[in-house]
Amino acid sequence: MHHMTLAEIARGLADKKFSSEELTKALLARIAQLDPQLNSFISLTEELALSQAKAADARRANGESGALLGAPIAHKDLFCTQGIRTSCGSKMLDNFKAPYDATVVAKLAAAGAVTLGKTNMDEFAMGSANESSYYGAVKNPWNLEHVPGGSSGGSAAAVAARLLPAATATDTGGSIRQPAAFTNLTGLKPTYGRVSRWGMIAYASSLDQGGPLARTAEDCAILLQGMAGFDPNDSTSIDEPVPDYSASLNGSLQGLRIGVPKEYFGAGLDPRIAELVHNSVKALEKLGAVIKEISLPNMQHAIPAYYVIAPAEASSNLSRFDGVRFGYRCENPQNLIDLYKRSRGEGFGAEVQRRIMVGAYALSAGYYDAYYLKAQKIRRLVKNDFMAAFNEVDIILGPTTPNPAWKLGAKNSDPVAEYLEDVYTITANLAGLPGLSMPAGFVDGLPVGVQLLAPYFQEGRLLNVAHQYQLNSDWHTRTPTGF
Ligand code: GLN
Repeated sequence: MHHMTLAEIARGLADKKFSSEELTKALLARIAQLDPQLNSFISLTEELALSQAKAADARRANGESGALLGAPIAHKDLFCTQGIRTSCGSKMLDNFKAPYDATVVAKLAAAGAVTLGKTNMDEFAMGSANESSYYGAVKNPWNLEHVPGGSSGGSAAAVAARLLPAATATDTGGSIRQPAAFTNLTGLKPTYGRVSRWGMIAYASSLDQGGPLARTAEDCAILLQGMAGFDPNDSTSIDEPVPDYSASLNGSLQGLRIGVPKEYFGAGLDPRIAELVHNSVKALEKLGAVIKEISLPNMQHAIPAYYVIAPAEASSNLSRFDGVRFGYRCENPQNLIDLYKRSRGEGFGAEVQRRIMVGAYALSAGYYDAYYLKAQKIRRLVKNDFMAAFNEVDIILGPTTPNPAWKLGAKNSDPVAEYLEDVYTITANLAGLPGLSMPAGFVDGLPVGVQLLAPYFQEGRLLNVAHQYQLNSDWHTRTPTGF
């Protein structure tokens, strides 16, 4: 049962081949058996899952249908779930039960999705390896000695290991696309404002965006359909109609203009990944696409700009964790300052503290203009590069990451080395554009992803290209040994 995609599950449920309750029980048993190797879950929600599954079966028996009705999923543990621990991968929120459901959680529940649990993640979504979690590192099912990517590493490892068909994730600088690439999944970061951030614990509010992680573009279309839409509770949510994403999958690629930025192929890119990217370009050419070399001249400034803006916003967002209102509180505080200092010093891990310090510094009087304002100007230049490119092409294609998944611990002593791995993903967040990573081959037995970027609100175009590619390739069907 665990090999089915969301689309296959929807058909099986509609044809009464199995019930959601049977499927849910089978997957919960599989998680209990296999997750100890991976550590992809922070919390399991068996009771909730079984009651949701029974309710979905009853709705189907009453004649209701829907691609997500009875479909098992999991949520990255930064989506608030009412009455259920929502830890954000941090000791700070280890004791936090959210008082309400995030919009994404509520929408998917209303569509009949079944929540199996909350997935592991880098603390406060800061990281590219899922090693900064208070709950321990997540292992990559393709090689248990390697990282699964981050920060949505738990969602990615669980889906890749066939513990469940799909999961929610979030992407501030690559955290959907990069773990997708590292675990042979398809992951989509939507346009900023497409998916509500209400009830999604904030890391960097102007960059954060929720989206789907699944095995296929077809499944990403199904999950995104349940997540997307205007939300009056999120002031940056955009009131644009949500298209039928599944209907967009089958368009022809004849004449589609694909831009390949020359800056993507500089030093630092593993040449074996470059070759796989070129192979995917050739495959799309065969399907009718027209390839054009383009330039994104400001790309080189994106990492420094991002690693000023994201920590700046994080330092502001995380000031609410003060040991007073909710979350971790130190023992026996001597006075208010001692309470703040020790609650935050003990509740936050090293990477989070590093980002808060960098961000507070960049925002402080005297440094604001030199760092934060400068970074915002670069952000505009990065966006302008994309706007110019999209005058000439419909899609931009390149590698998702410069290297395949590294070994656990390999970058622990050098945070900047980890930051540099985000080079291809963060520009889409700076510009607010949608991006997708899809499986495109293997290097040393580890999966490699190809990234597609599109103009604002063209998620359907990304899913269309990825789906057509997946109809003509079988990388996405490969399963890690032992799972
Ligand atoms: N690796 C990036 C960071 O650490 C992106 C993380 C994310 O997208 N949440 O900030």
